[in-house]
Amino acid sequence: MKVAVVPGDGIGKEVVPVAEAVLRRLHPEWDYVEVEIGYGRWKRCGEALGAEELQALREADSVLFGAVTTPPDPNYQSVIVRLRKELELYANVRPVQGAGVDITIVRENTEGLYSGIEWELPGSACTLRVVTEAGSRRIARFAAARAKGRRFTIGTKANVLKSDALFRRCAIEEAEAAGLEWEEKYIDALCLGVLMHPAHYGVVVTTNIFGDILSDAAGALVGGLGLLPSANIGDDHALFEPVHGSAPDIEGKGIANPVAALRSAAMLLDHAGDAAGAAAVEAAVTATLDTGMKTPDLGGSATTAAFGEAVLGHLG
Ligand code: ATP
Repeated sequence: MKVAVVPGDGIGKEVVPVAEAVLRRLHPEWDYVEVEIGYGRWKRCGEALGAEELQALREADSVLFGAVTTPPDPNYQSVIVRLRKELELYANVRPVQGAGVDITIVRENTEGLYSGIEWELPGSACTLRVVTEAGSRRIARFAAARAKGRRFTIGTKANVLKSDALFRRCAIEEAEAAGLEWEEKYIDALCLGVLMHPAHYGVVVTTNIFGDILSDAAGALVGGLGLLPSANIGDDHALFEPVHGSAPDIEGKGIANPVAALRSAAMLLDHAGDAAGAAAVEAAVTATLDTGMKTPDLGGSATTAAFGEAVLGHLG
């Protein structure tokens, strides 16, 4: 098993080593390859993602990814958006768990408003929201396969957007083909519903930007961005990363919460077929939090490294 490790920028460089240490503890036999991608590389050599680096990711069975900074520079293309397309990572799985909440947001990851098809005109700018039948069916099938025994909610703005009317029709057909009961909500009402009545929800499937926003907002239910992991899954590749970004405001202070990265590593283990390892990592994170050890975002004073050491201690 080959794991590409991409710390990226900002706090990615602080939380990824913690998650990598846990993977190495459980699987010293795996091959770990560090790959440099991101804004730091762009500043160094003018290219955020090189051909060699992309090839290294293609050759890996899984990618453990930190975060990359996307500067507001018109010449800079978002690396993670490009990677999701290059590796066909069409499903973004974002579990929001804890405090009686167990919601899995499944977000379409390769099209929608992040199609990358955009242009500027004098006095205006356009971004094309592309939703295809193939892309919608693929993500709906993926989500439906994870929704057995759970409530299945389809989130759209189908009353306003033709692109979402297509997504809605495909998602309903795929849910029915999978023998699932389904419900639908307009995305604005769904955001409110998830925050007001989180216990109602199980698996939510939605389009790209709606899933991005909904999962960050839902993070408020369980203690914020520092706790939320995600998986980007395609037919041939898989990349695991915290939902949070590179957090330049706390970079270099050693206080970033590594839980999201640790949980992303747990998702990697699960995807690799090591469900017991994944459960052990989750249990070690919970045991550490239960001792009262917390990073400052959760009201504590632990450092990233100390939290990581404690998790390793609980892993045994
Ligand atoms: P992006 O655009 O890449 O999503 P962003 O700057 O919008 O990045 P984040 O980098 O996720 O968003 O940071 C948002 C806020 O949450 C910041 O104040 C940051 O310090 C805080 N934050 C994010 N992740 C963590 C973490 N792991 N530990 C502590 N605080 C965090």
